[in-house]
Formats: sequence, structure tokens, C-alpha cells
Amino acid sequence: MLDNIRVVLVNTSHPGNIGGAARAMKNMGLSRLVLVEPREFPSPEADARASGASDVLENAQVVASLEEALVGCTVVLGTSARDRSLPWPLVDPRECGEKVIEEAGQGKQIALVFGREHAGLTNDELQRCHFHVHIPSNPDFSSLNLAAAVQVLGYEVRMAWLAGKRPAAAMEKAEELATSDEMERFYGHLQDTLVDIAFLDPEKPRHLMARLRRLFGRSAVNKSEMSILRGILTETQKVARGEPHKRKDQ
Ligand code: SAH
Repeated sequence: MLDNIRVVLVNTSHPGNIGGAARAMKNMGLSRLVLVEPREFPSPEADARASGASDVLENAQVVASLEEALVGCTVVLGTSARDRSLPWPLVDPRECGEKVIEEAGQGKQIALVFGREHAGLTNDELQRCHFHVHIPSNPDFSSLNLAAAVQVLGYEVRMAWLAGKRPAAAMEKAEELATSDEMERFYGHLQDTLVDIAFLDPEKPRHLMARLRRLFGRSAVNKSEMSILRGILTETQKVARGEPHKRKDQ
């Protein structure tokens, strides 16, 4: 599914940035790089910056126009260092990741388009995109390095992709929560114990139990945590009542 996503770099000046982008892509599981008229490519500087991602560079497609880079794509997202450079459908990186994964999951071809180091994308190029993506950077210093921008969007794509794979695994691992009747028995036990240790005066309860219910209610207590809590209360009661208990020094 991630191979339905292509990263398009338009007129990149510095080959090091192409290598850096390739590395960022491979780190995030993306492999399809398309270069529109790069100033210098292939290049030893690109290879050096790509580190172990030379396969992404070797398989990169070099084309003469943005049009050619977008052949077969149904969803095109263009990045801009400027917030709202044109009135256009704008998404943030998180929404971008979600959209890309949703569409790529349906078998659609998606392009993420990145601009020139010094001038970004032209208005013409931006108008070929269905959506614009702006990384919400410092407005006084908004432009990220090209490869860093590829990294941020690649990361969001990966997070959205992982989120789609996660529910089944998470369900298996999640521990079963304590049920409300187990919680009720716990509150009863807690109240008795607090009376035993004279922390709670039944004549002046001062909403203590309500506050403790609110605290434990926020905690999503699971069954094994519940048995720890019940064990603590049982031992506390034994100590308070002077019954034999686990403390070794008595
Ligand atoms: N002076 C240019 C900056 C280009 S930075 C301009 O004002 O547009 C090079 C490329 O990195 C941009 O074209 C874009 O693809 C990406 N980029 C840099 N900062 C970005 C940001 N804050 N949000 C989205 N993309 C960004």
C-alpha cells in the first residue's frame, strides 16, 4: 500500500537534499521517488546523504515536468512553507497522513509534491494539487529544509499507516478492565479499610468516597491492578486490626 505513494521533488538545486529526502523516505517505509528536472542527479553528494537508502535513489524516476511526474495519480498534495499562500483546501500534516493512507488503501495513486529550496512551488504548480499541506512552523521562520519537510510528512504517513494496522493487535494485548460490580466491591472494601485506619470518619465523610470514586473512575483499572489494590486493602485491614499479616518485623 505504501508503494502507491510517490514523493515528487521539483527542480531540486542541492543533490544533498535529494539524498536526505531518500533517506527520510526509506526510514518511513516509502520507496517511490520522482525527480522533476533536478539540477544535478545522480550525484555523489546525493549518495552520501542517502546513507543506506541508495536503492531509493537508484529506482528514482527522473522526469521533465510536474505533469509527467503526476501521471496516474488521483490525489495530489502540494506542500508550501507559507500558510495559505493561495485560498485552497488546506490540510495539516496529520490530516495529510490520514488522507494519504485512506486513499492509498483504496488502491489510488497519491503524490506528495515538494518545491525548490529557494522558491518553493509556483502558483501554477500549487494549482495542480488537490490539497495544500503546510507544516505549522514558526511564522517568523517557516521554511524547513527540503529533506526535513519530507521527513515530517513521511512520519505522519507512517503514523496513519501504523494506526490502521494497530487495532487488532492492541485488542489482543489490552488487559481486561475491572467490571463495575468489581469496582463496587472494591469501593466497599476501600471504605471499610479507611474506617479501620480511621482515615474516614463515617460521621463526617466529607465526600471522600465520591472523590476517590472519581479518581479511580479516571484510571481504567484492569483486573490485575484490581487484585493488587484488593490485596493492599486486605493487608492494611489485618495490620489495623492486629491480625497476623505479612509484615516480617513483628
Ligand atoms: N522560500 C521557499 C521555501 C521552500 S523550502 C518558499 O517560501 O516556499 C523547500 C520546500 O520544502 C518547500 O517547497 C516545501 O515543499 C517544503 N517545506 C519547507 N517548509 C515547509 C513547511 N513549513 N510546510 C510545508 N512544506 C514545507
